[in-house]
Amino acid sequence: MSNTENNTKEGIIYTGVPSKAELAAAPGVPSEERMCQGRVACIECVQGIPCNPCEGACKFGAITIGDEITNLPHIDEEKCTGCGMCVAACPGLAITIVNKAFNQKEATVDFPFEYIPLPEVGDEVDAVSRMGEVLCKGRILSVKKPKSYAGTAVVSMAIPQEFADEVRNMKRLPR
Ligand code: SF4
Ligand code: SF4
Repeated sequence: MSNTENNTKEGIIYTGVPSKAELAAAPGVPSEERMCQGRVACIECVQGIPCNPCEGACKFGAITIGDEITNLPHIDEEKCTGCGMCVAACPGLAITIVNKAFNQKEATVDFPFEYIPLPEVGDEVDAVSRMGEVLCKGRILSVKKPKSYAGTAVVSMAIPQEFADEVRNMKRLPR
């Protein structure tokens, strides 16, 4: 194996999380401009697996996969209202709702969370990266449990603006 190949062992098949290049190419990831306008789905789905519940979960027609079920989901960032219904519908836990316009200092990230105990509104928690590294503190804004998707809560968390591109979940709480 060449040095180049050794140095490129990043990305979803090697680490389990998408690389920056994969995210940049993903049709489900909205533009920076859109994220700065308010809540929008950020669909970090990059593997072309046979899967499509996200498409049916969106009542606004903002997610398109199309006839070929292995197509990557495409987000229509103008149609997306940031409602969050797609978050718990994704078995791959690949969808978050990002809002870089929450206030001057904070962004928000809504993410799927499948651990017990759940956080409570107002809790200060450890906010983590895609790799699970603790990056900063987060403040819990809401915890929703969609009836149709038992076992997957959708947690909304405020974080410092500068971490909005990296934070995608929170550290599991002690039982
Ligand atoms: S957040 Fe709501 S409107 Fe946006 S893609 Fe998901 S389900 Fe559709
Ligand atoms: S439901 Fe999730 S894993 Fe499946 S295609 Fe949609 S974003 Fe990808």
